[in-house]
Formats: sequence, C-alpha cells, structure tokens
Amino acid sequence: MTNCIFCKIKDGEIPSAKVWENENFFAFLDINPVNPGHTLLIPKKHVDYLFELDDGVYHELFKAAKEVSVPLKRAVGAKRIGVVVEGFLVPHVHIHLIPINGPGELDAKRAGKADPNELTAIAERIKDAF
Ligand SMILES: [Zn+2]
Repeated sequence: MTNCIFCKIKDGEIPSAKVWENENFFAFLDINPVNPGHTLLIPKKHVDYLFELDDGVYHELFKAAKEVSVPLKRAVGAKRIGVVVEGFLVPHVHIHLIPINGPGELDAKRAGKADPNELTAIAERIKDAF
C-alpha cells in the first residue's frame, strides 16, 4: 500500500532497526519503545486488521512471533515477552513483542522516544541471539 509507513519500512524505503525477516514477515524495533527491545512484527503483505488475515498467514504470524520471542528475551534478559495488538496508529497488522519483567509494563503510556544509536545496538544484540 502506497502511503503505509510499515510497507515502506519493510521495503527499506524508510530505515528501521531490523531484527529479523523471512519470506512473509518482518520484525523491527519500535522507535517509541515501552521497554528496551520493544519489537514490531508485521506480515509483508498489507492487511489492516489482525483478524482479517488469511488463516495460513495468521498462524504463520504467531509462529514467527514465537520464533522472534526467544532471541529477543535472551538478548535483553527479560522475564517474559508480552504481546499487544491494537493497530489504531498504523493500519497494517503488527504484533508488539515487548520484553517485560512484571505486570503493567505493557501500558502504552510508558512509551518514550528511543535514541537511534541505542536501537541499532539492541537490534544487533537480538540478531546475534538468534
Ligand atoms: Zn502496509
């Protein structure tokens, strides 16, 4: 989709701190993380709403979330990886994978702008942890 920021990110038209991709999915760090390592996982094909995905893509998306969660958790040393899906800000399906160490940490009000150099460094650590 032409004006979609996530389509531009997965196409490389907008730079991102990429942590992983395969044929159908792409994962990169949120520039306004709730916690360090806050990752967004998207299908490469533009679809607005999570539950409008074809069953196959839907299942593969959550399989990819599991795959990314392991090195992500290891890289940042979090107790768990939390999952959030809202999709109001960018109408392209994305799963927030957020390292958390206690209840309440998924609250989007905790998000703040990250230093780009820090994002790059964290992305490298996650890639190394695969
Ligand atoms: Zn899109």
